[in-house]
Amino acid sequence: MKKNPWVKDFPQIQDGYRYFDSAATSLKPKVVIDQMNDYNLRLSANIHRGMYAQSQEATEIYEEARRVVADFIHGREDEIVFTRGTTASLNLVARAFGMAILNEGDEILSDEAEHHSSILPWLNVSHQRKANLSYIPLSKEGKLTIESFKESISNRTKIVAIHHVSNVMGYQALLKDMIDIAHEHGAYVVVDGAQAIQHMPVNVKNLDADFYAFSGHKMLGPTGIGVLYGKFDLLDKMNPIEYGGDMALDVMKHQFSWKETPIKFEAGTMPIAEAFGLKAAIEYFQSIGFKHIHTYTETLYNYLMKKLNQIEDVDIYNQSSDTFIFTFNLKNVPSHDAISYFSEKNIALRSGQHCAKLMHDFLGINSSLRGTIYLYNTYEDVDVLVEEIKAAVSYFKALGF
Ligand code: PMP
Repeated sequence: MKKNPWVKDFPQIQDGYRYFDSAATSLKPKVVIDQMNDYNLRLSANIHRGMYAQSQEATEIYEEARRVVADFIHGREDEIVFTRGTTASLNLVARAFGMAILNEGDEILSDEAEHHSSILPWLNVSHQRKANLSYIPLSKEGKLTIESFKESISNRTKIVAIHHVSNVMGYQALLKDMIDIAHEHGAYVVVDGAQAIQHMPVNVKNLDADFYAFSGHKMLGPTGIGVLYGKFDLLDKMNPIEYGGDMALDVMKHQFSWKETPIKFEAGTMPIAEAFGLKAAIEYFQSIGFKHIHTYTETLYNYLMKKLNQIEDVDIYNQSSDTFIFTFNLKNVPSHDAISYFSEKNIALRSGQHCAKLMHDFLGINSSLRGTIYLYNTYEDVDVLVEEIKAAVSYFKALGF
C-alpha cells in the first residue's frame, strides 16, 4: 500500500511539510476539528448544569464520549475520569491514591525509561510519605524485562509505576505479565499509556491494570483532555484532589458531600469541546482499524530504517521499535543544532531529552533527535527526510563539527 489513504483527512499537512513529531503530539483529522466546531458553533453550553436544550445535548454528548472511551479500552463508564492529560491523570493517582496507601519504608517501583510525568508525581509522593522510589534495571537495549522485574519486586512494593510503551525508544513493556507478577506481590500497577493508546488495541480488563492513563492529543484528538481509567473499587475509595463546582452534591456551611465516581473527580468546567473531539478521534480509529494502521506504518518504518542505517555518521539508539519511533543523533552534532537545520527544511522532528532525562543518562548522551512514523506519513516524507539527514551530515561536517 504505497499510496497513503489517510493523508487527505489531515488538513494540517501542507505541501512540503514533513511531520515526524507524532510522539509529542499527533495531527488531528478534520472529523475531530469538525466535532469541536460543532460544540463551539452550535451548543457552547455548560454541562451537567443547564436545563435548556443546548446544555442537555452537550451533556449527552460529553457522557457519550465517556462511554466511547470506556468501550475503546474495555472499561466501564464509571471507571473513566476525564482529566487534562496523562500528566494530570498520573498526578491524580499519585496524590489521591499514592498518598493514601503509602507509608514510611514502602516501595514504589519504576524505571529509568519513564517520561517525567510517570516519575515526578511518584518522586514527590515518595518524599512526602517517606517511601522509597526504586528503579527496575533496564536491559542494555533499554528495555524492561520480566527477569529484572521479578528480581526487583518484593512484598514491600506497594505501587508499580510503568509505561506501556516508552517515549524515547518505543519499546512495549510486557505489561500483562508484569501486572500479574505485581498482583502476586500485592502491589498496584499504574500504567502510563500515553505512547501506546494511539498504536494498538488496549484492553484494561484483560491487562487487569489498576490504573491506565493517556492523553487525547497524542491519539488524533484535541489537546487539553486526557483520561484516567481506574478500577471502580479503587476510584470509589479515593478522595478527590480538586474541589469546586459540579463535583459537590450538597454544601453546608461547615460540611459538604460529593457526587458519585467518576464525577467527583471532575471539578469545575471540563474540556467539553475536547470531549466531543476525543470521541470523534476514537471513532476515526475504529473506522480504520489498528491492524491497517500497523501494517502501513510498520512497512514504512522498515523502509526508513534500512535507509537510515546506510547513512554514515548517524548514531541510532533503537534499531527496532514497537511504535515506530526512531531516536538518533548526527555524530558530534548537538540535537538542538541539528534541529535548526531540519526546521529550515520544513521537517518536524523533536530534539532534546523528550521529558526523559533518566533515559538519556542511561544512554550516556545529553540529548537526541526523535521522530515517529505515523499513519499520515508517506514514502515521499521518508525519502525527503533521508536525503536531508545525509545533507545535514555533510553540512555540519563542513562546519567542523
Ligand atoms: N507519558 C509519556 C510516555 C509521554 O510520551 C507523554 C507526552 N510526552 C506524557 C506522559 C505526558 O503527556 P501530557 O503532556 O499529554 O500530559
